[in-house]
Amino acid sequence: MKAVILMLGMMAVTMTDAHAFGSARSSAVDAAPTPVPTTPVVVTPPNTDVGTGGLRVVINSAKNFNDTQAAHLEASRDLLERIVNSEEFKQRVLHFSYQGQETFVQNNGLSNLQVYNKILEAAEQLPSPTEANRVIDLSVQLYTSSYFGRNVVGYTSPDTPTIYMNTYFYNGATPGESASNMMHEWMHKLGFDHDYNSTARRPYSVPYAIGDIVDQMGN
Ligand SMILES: [Zn+2]
Repeated sequence: MKAVILMLGMMAVTMTDAHAFGSARSSAVDAAPTPVPTTPVVVTPPNTDVGTGGLRVVINSAKNFNDTQAAHLEASRDLLERIVNSEEFKQRVLHFSYQGQETFVQNNGLSNLQVYNKILEAAEQLPSPTEANRVIDLSVQLYTSSYFGRNVVGYTSPDTPTIYMNTYFYNGATPGESASNMMHEWMHKLGFDHDYNSTARRPYSVPYAIGDIVDQMGN
């Protein structure tokens, strides 16, 4: 019986480690046959601070990317993953202020800590609610706008998981700028919104503010 508990403990450690690192993660967690306990095993949650780390950024699909654009996408994904797992990101979110108060605007009634925890849980709500899996799931597609739409960095809509990114901006962007763009649009997938027009409060909305934090840390 002791051996079974030890093995389960080791598996938990392996899985934690797999989540804690960037793109070089193992998919071999399933390799060992799972022991079947004959009596219920009580698993005590690890008594560790799970406030940072363990969040993955995964590109589930990328359409219209050439090799250069795909390399930039991977650099942006990797950077975003390192930023959102950092203590600095956590502190910036927890202490984000609007008019002297530690709060976001258009925050869906959530405190800064609750917003941060929403990010960590990564349970996308749009286009349909998903489980909290600690994976920032991204589907991205490049498009080339008309000349008049060239100042639109990117956009998405509630009825699709896809984040559309404009080549006018994308092709000249730094990884930090693209990471910021993807994070802004992904915050919409969590269910946060902002004023459509350029209001005074819009920069303090959750999507804009979180996107700006990523931009500042990534550039
Ligand atoms: Zn937006």
